[in-house]
Amino acid sequence: MGPVKLDQRVEGMSISPTLAARVRSSSLVEEGQRVFRFGLGQSPFPVPEPLVAALRAAAAEKDYQPPGGLHELRRAVADHHRFRHGVAFAAEDIVIGPGSKELIFLLQLCFDGDILLPTPRWVSYVPQARLAGRQVVTLPGGGRDGLTLEPERLAELCQAAPGRRRLLFLNSPCNPTGLASTGEELEALAAVCREYQVVVLSDEIYAELRFSGRHRSLAQLYPEATIVVSGLSKWCGAGGWRLGTMALPHGLRVLRRALEAVASETFSSTSAPIQRAAVTAFKPQGEIEAYLVLVRRILAAALGWAAAELDGVGLEVPQPVAGFYLFPGFAPLRDALARLGIESDIDLSERLLAETSVVTVPGSAFGCDPRALRVRLALVDFDGAHALTGLANGPADLSFLQRYLTPTWNGILALARWSAQLAPTRATP
Ligand code: PMP
Ligand code: GLU
Repeated sequence: MGPVKLDQRVEGMSISPTLAARVRSSSLVEEGQRVFRFGLGQSPFPVPEPLVAALRAAAAEKDYQPPGGLHELRRAVADHHRFRHGVAFAAEDIVIGPGSKELIFLLQLCFDGDILLPTPRWVSYVPQARLAGRQVVTLPGGGRDGLTLEPERLAELCQAAPGRRRLLFLNSPCNPTGLASTGEELEALAAVCREYQVVVLSDEIYAELRFSGRHRSLAQLYPEATIVVSGLSKWCGAGGWRLGTMALPHGLRVLRRALEAVASETFSSTSAPIQRAAVTAFKPQGEIEAYLVLVRRILAAALGWAAAELDGVGLEVPQPVAGFYLFPGFAPLRDALARLGIESDIDLSERLLAETSVVTVPGSAFGCDPRALRVRLALVDFDGAHALTGLANGPADLSFLQRYLTPTWNGILALARWSAQLAPTRATP
């Protein structure tokens, strides 16, 4: 047999950087090294007990389900969007898939038009666009910390070629920055999108992890063409369950039907027991609400403390409002890093691993300029069940973080020490 030739859309593609970071951490641990696992953004918290019980009860469910998802789950997801975020979707508007990642890919496959991606952006959007044969148009980050989408940028782009079909990706709260669009930004974006008839994919997978417990969706302001994606992976700690949801406005039903058709020709339907259990997650539930209150308090305390520590040694750290991630910039240390031969975020990420044992994902994986020297830290290296128990007995103060989030605490201190010894001039008057 001759050599196998790969299709050009796949050639050169390797495992997604976030998942590769996990493989790397695991192999270092197997070799006996202690590493701080800040690579993969996986919730450290257990799946809430009512969901586990519901999954147990559904274990014997064996039938294929409708390609768009179990009706009861679709209704629960629609109600969840209505009650929690004030956005009116009907059960028929919802599509269930094996992870929001798969649904986002199918959307890129079905939508004929340009994909507009603000930078920074989650790692998988671009490879998916390539697989789907889509044209990507990048919108460089501006605004707050140089990392948010400025509505004026979008307006300029649309003005230049008003007739094009476009799908804008908005990820708020954002992976990797932890920032979320403000009400004013959302209003301005809605106005531009309406004027130029831009369809929006609003990736809201971190919505329930807003530290304040309050989330605003673009769909509230631009309901006619905002598609909302969510799932169980982040707020229910169930990444490995693989369940994602997509809500499409009624006016985009052609797209929704296409998604269901492609789903039926590819994965058929999402796992039946997982869908049954997921109904519990999307129905109002005291126990899950109480779990979320604790999860948010722990994440807010950990990220707030870590951001202040890194800021204190001179890094540029956007202040996150949700999720697990910090996105520090080492540009203020550029000269000292250059003397060590560190010119790019990939060099930096490698050196941090070698000298601090902290696993990071370079900012360029999220579309940033490698010379901006940003890395993403997922502050998830701790036992979430233990932390939840600890919080029940006291406040989320520094001694709580040190005692219950010990690996995360130590990893941040290692990064802070390493950075501080590079910036001695800051201390001298
Ligand atoms: N969007 C963003 C911004 C993410 O960080 C992730 C990673 N969980 C996903 C989508 C995909 O999540 P899942 O497929 O687990 O639902
Ligand atoms: N979304 C997570 C991250 O950014 C990991 C899971 C994934 O990439 O599919 O780290």
